[in-house]
Amino acid sequence: MKKILLIQTGGTIAMNAKGAGVELDPEAWSKILYEEIPELNEIAKINTIPLFFEDSSDLNASHWIQLADCIEQEYENFDGFVILHGTDTMAYSASALSFGLNNLDKPVIFTGSQLPMSSIRSDARRNLVNAIELATMPFKEVGICFNDALYRGNRATKMSIGDFDAFGSPNFSPLADIGIQIETRVSAEFGSGDFKNAAKFSDEVFVLTAHPNLNPELLEGLNLKKIRAVIIRAFGSGNFCIKGKNSLLPFLDKCRDHDVTVAIVSQADFDSVDLTQYTAGRAALKHGAISGNDMTLEAALTKLMFLLAHYDSKTDIEELFQQSIVGEL
Ligand code: ASP
Repeated sequence: MKKILLIQTGGTIAMNAKGAGVELDPEAWSKILYEEIPELNEIAKINTIPLFFEDSSDLNASHWIQLADCIEQEYENFDGFVILHGTDTMAYSASALSFGLNNLDKPVIFTGSQLPMSSIRSDARRNLVNAIELATMPFKEVGICFNDALYRGNRATKMSIGDFDAFGSPNFSPLADIGIQIETRVSAEFGSGDFKNAAKFSDEVFVLTAHPNLNPELLEGLNLKKIRAVIIRAFGSGNFCIKGKNSLLPFLDKCRDHDVTVAIVSQADFDSVDLTQYTAGRAALKHGAISGNDMTLEAALTKLMFLLAHYDSKTDIEELFQQSIVGEL
């Protein structure tokens, strides 16, 4: 029987819906886990680690590093890893680990739930059972298991606040469809080379959302000496205002003068940024910006955080950003 390590980090799945409110409740959680899902041990031999208990909106790179360190320490002892995590920032954590855990040859599956495990209509049971089953399969990458699918971690994004089908992977087909049968698409491109924990992330990235009437004067307070990369969440195929007082081009020039990388992702979930398509995109290219192609914001952000922590040269960082490292574009 396969051995799976179940790592608890918090989120709704670790909350207690009974009593006065909905609160993180570490003690109640492990009791509920075994009372409500005794048959989990029929799927795999499961050990649990309560690593931390946080709402995922309170997580940062230090928590990603704790997760990577935990997986590194237990790597030889288990066949797969399941991480219980809040849904709000699950796609960021999954993306970060996909870059931080080099040459994975075992599954690392994130899951969580929209309702606490103790709630009668909870989706926690189903997500957890599916995630554990998927963690016994030959995936060699970080995934997010939610509702009836397994998504590549660095391709997934939270799409719904109120639906059980909370995640999507707009530009990449699911790694597994979960029905009566589980249909898998295990990528052959991963799993060679020695596993290495390279989880290290910089916080010198700033994300800017373009919107109509954005006043570039508001950006003057940004300390570009402390920022090494700006991600612009642009419109459509990579456009933003380039005319009149709202033009962002002077800001791009200022970034270039400070050696700050400017990467463009789209506010539209589906398809890819193409900076050659419209005048604004072409101007962005001319003023030094690079394309995030079809990367999610979560992937682009964590990839830059990872690259900035590992490389000094802006040219190397920009070159690597535009290449696929672990199937994120
Ligand atoms: N706020 C919660 C979290 O991300 C939401 C959830 O788990 O669904 O931790």
